[in-house]
Amino acid sequence: MRDSLLRPERIWKFGVILGVVSILSGIGHGEAPSQTPPAQPGTADSSTPAKASATSENVPQAAGVIGLELIDSCIENGSPLWYEAGPGGTVLVYLQYDLERAAPNRAAGHFHFRVQARPGTELTLELKNLDNVWNGKSGSVAREMEQFVTSEDGQTWESHPTLRPDGERVLLPLKITGTQLDVARIEPYRLSDLDRLLQEISSKPGVQVQTIGNTVEGRPLELIQIGRRDAPFRVFLRARAHPWESGGNWVVQGLIRRLLRNDDHAHKCLERYQVTILPMANKDGVARGRTRFNAQGMDLNRNWNEPADPKLAPENAALETWLLGEIEQHRPPHLAIELHNDGRGLLHFSRPTVPDNDRYLSRMKSLEQLLRIHSWFSEGSTKPSFNNPGTLGDGWLNRFQIDALVHELNANRIARIDQPTSGALWQQYGENLTTVLYEYFGSVKP
Ligand SMILES: [Zn+2]
Repeated sequence: MRDSLLRPERIWKFGVILGVVSILSGIGHGEAPSQTPPAQPGTADSSTPAKASATSENVPQAAGVIGLELIDSCIENGSPLWYEAGPGGTVLVYLQYDLERAAPNRAAGHFHFRVQARPGTELTLELKNLDNVWNGKSGSVAREMEQFVTSEDGQTWESHPTLRPDGERVLLPLKITGTQLDVARIEPYRLSDLDRLLQEISSKPGVQVQTIGNTVEGRPLELIQIGRRDAPFRVFLRARAHPWESGGNWVVQGLIRRLLRNDDHAHKCLERYQVTILPMANKDGVARGRTRFNAQGMDLNRNWNEPADPKLAPENAALETWLLGEIEQHRPPHLAIELHNDGRGLLHFSRPTVPDNDRYLSRMKSLEQLLRIHSWFSEGSTKPSFNNPGTLGDGWLNRFQIDALVHELNANRIARIDQPTSGALWQQYGENLTTVLYEYFGSVKP
């Protein structure tokens, strides 16, 4: 599907549309140009690449006025999209919705692409298809998109505010000083970043990496364990059930690196707890630049109130098999944290009707308090009326009596320090989490 973006006639059509825009802007019209390109001499149908001399003269001229040459989404973790010229010289970028299997839910919101343009080009992109459906309810994700990031080299990212003229539209003003600029919703963490981390840590003492299964498309699911098997406490963390939410990957990377620093703090922590991490649950979604569901349209943070389907959600089935094995050996995690991103950043404490729910809630409150003390966390937790059945937090508590929660990380800003989010700040949060866990297991009786 994404190949069609690069087909010659696609680029040609866009060039022609830009040509129309240039002419219209040149004579002072602000209206949207016609979406239908004019008939071209010598091209019998639209699937034939343009080759007439008139085209080769027009395209560079049109591209030269606006400066845009290509929006390339065929980069690692690039989001599927198509685009066309919009009113007033903007470019409309249509994101592709992820669709949930056998459900009305749909999600778009991940964006990550490379804008190629002439040096010095200034452009405004408008994101389209932000009308998501979540838990059966419609709602635009536009109001959550306060920030975006850009990078000239795909490694060093800079944050910028989006423009939201009426709350429902999201505009990204760009200045391309070189020949290309990568644009993303939040700082990306790609499969290659995880591969690098695994390579860095897998032979270190105290680290175990095992493959517990494969994704729908056959990518291996690595489970990372750090610390002694006989440590008195065990904590489990999972990141990236939803592929756009890279924040969790940065957090677990920061936590892992802190625990492997081989200093007093690390030794003290690992005396007290062992960490098990599934760093990238939805690898297929990350590889394909999708927003929420796996390759069979399943939401990996749903349906935990029943056994996972190994065909439709092998990512969850593999994790559940591992967990059942641990339970059988009387070593279930004492705490499970499911990391996500959204526009609010709350801790989600579920309220299923389990006998010991009050004890669970008091332990979660103590965790919240420790996060406030030892990190920049300040966002708070869900209200007593909150219940979100089927999430990992709810399902593990309900079915296995494991203290589990969903930890959202605000994708836009870190309120306490009044800064936009970044991979570096999320890694720092992961480092701080090592202290939070140390204190938590020191004060809370399992
Ligand atoms: Zn999520």
